[in-house]
Amino acid sequence: MDEKFDCIVIGGGVAGLSAAMTLARNNMKFLLIERGEFSGSKNVSGGVLWGDGLASLVPDYQDEEDGGWERFINHRRLTFMDGQSAFSIDFKSDHFEEKPYKGVIVLRAKFDNWLAGKVQEAIDASDYAEDSFIATSILVEEVLMENGKAVGIRAGEEKFHADCVILAEGVNNLLTRQVGLQDQYVPADYLATGVKEIIRFDRKVLEDRFQLDGLSGMSNEFLGFATDGIEGGGFLYTNRDSISLGLVLGMKSMREKMKPNDRKIYDILTHFKQHPAVKDMIRGGEVVEYSGHAVSTGDMRVMPKEVYADGVLIAGEAANLLMNSGKAIQGMDYALHSGVLAAEAVIDAKKKGDFSAASLKQYREALEDSFVMKDMRNFQKAVHFLHSEQLFGMVPNLVCDFGRQFFTIENKPTPKTGKMLSNAVKRHSSYTELLKLGIKGARAL
Ligand SMILES: Cc1cc2nc3c(=O)[nH]c(=O)nc-3n(C[C@H](O)[C@H](O)[C@H](O)COP(=O)(O)OP(=O)(O)OC[C@H]3O[C@@H](n4cnc5c(N)ncnc54)[C@H](O)[C@@H]3O)c2cc1C
Repeated sequence: MDEKFDCIVIGGGVAGLSAAMTLARNNMKFLLIERGEFSGSKNVSGGVLWGDGLASLVPDYQDEEDGGWERFINHRRLTFMDGQSAFSIDFKSDHFEEKPYKGVIVLRAKFDNWLAGKVQEAIDASDYAEDSFIATSILVEEVLMENGKAVGIRAGEEKFHADCVILAEGVNNLLTRQVGLQDQYVPADYLATGVKEIIRFDRKVLEDRFQLDGLSGMSNEFLGFATDGIEGGGFLYTNRDSISLGLVLGMKSMREKMKPNDRKIYDILTHFKQHPAVKDMIRGGEVVEYSGHAVSTGDMRVMPKEVYADGVLIAGEAANLLMNSGKAIQGMDYALHSGVLAAEAVIDAKKKGDFSAASLKQYREALEDSFVMKDMRNFQKAVHFLHSEQLFGMVPNLVCDFGRQFFTIENKPTPKTGKMLSNAVKRHSSYTELLKLGIKGARAL
């Protein structure tokens, strides 16, 4: 492996593998390096890969009996919780069954490994079947620079050279910082921690309980009680014979509200699992895996200064490309698309014989022109709105209070709905506060 590559991709997650697939299909000679034992072994997502990007990367994935994905989404639910109640907005539709699917639930250890297999197939079919590689269990420690240009990487004593490097190292972007595109210190205020359990069921029990048919699946997001006063939310996704249940919690809020020797993150997850509505959903299941991972909040204030430089491009969450606009966490679809766009810029750079920043700038332009940066820019206010304390405290409490009145029938005179609403508003907030929040929300979302 002492020859020079067209490109070295660092990170075998969704961004790196999507870049690698694009490079392989375009007959580029590349090396992808993943520090984990296999692609996906270090990765955590809730997780739903939203959108139809996977269909363009692996066109026949939907027809594979045992592909890398778990279930396609045809049922979505957003639940507001207080200590007693759960009030849900529930949407199920046949239109989700049309191919290409608009969201597939994945387990990363399985999915990334499967995608790496697809990349290997693309390498085998390329002109560089013998000269492009996916290398695992290797930690890249340094991007080699010459006269301000990235020229390769160092892993331990080994050095590998290339015309350019794609950094797809995920949210903990140490190499992006080393090449100077991100400040050394990234405030934790702009990051969150995700924790997740995989709870296994007998498949029939799971399908009956969640009304799943064939490979259809459900996504459920939770606001309120789930996070026990900490900013963030909960999630539940149905896999083939298990569910992924977890929380995403803001680091700033955790620092402020969790004292040392106080509750741990795991205790908050246990608290979430004890809610009557959740308890019923997970009854009889066996916890088979527990994992945690940092995750970006999508705040553009911590995006790298630039996503390209001389001989280097940054894709996926290494570039802080993630959006949580309240409807869903979108990190994997952004990773996939940015990985493809970064690789396309590299392919064009090779044609021009120019891997300078001026040439790689086309990556930034393509990214700006795509749904990724358009959504990132359009929904920045939503990122800030979702951090409003009222959203994970007052709003779910008010909604559940109203729900409790509305759905309870007693043998005494029933108040009109408007009266129920005003009772709930008075108990938890005021019309002025709600109006202000409503205007903020309407502008943000
Ligand atoms: C609890 C949780 C729930 C989430 N839910 C969702 C969801 O439902 N939908 C969604 O779209 N997104 C979700 N996300 C976000 C999503 O997981 C990320 O945005 C996505 O994984 C980013 O992909 P990536 O390829 O950029 O980075 P990663 O998936 O983090 O991949 C980076 C890869 O680089 C490797 N690596 C890092 N440094 C080095 C190095 N120096 N040398 C070699 N290899 C290296 C890592 O081992 C890893 O394999 C969730 C995240 C969490 C934590």
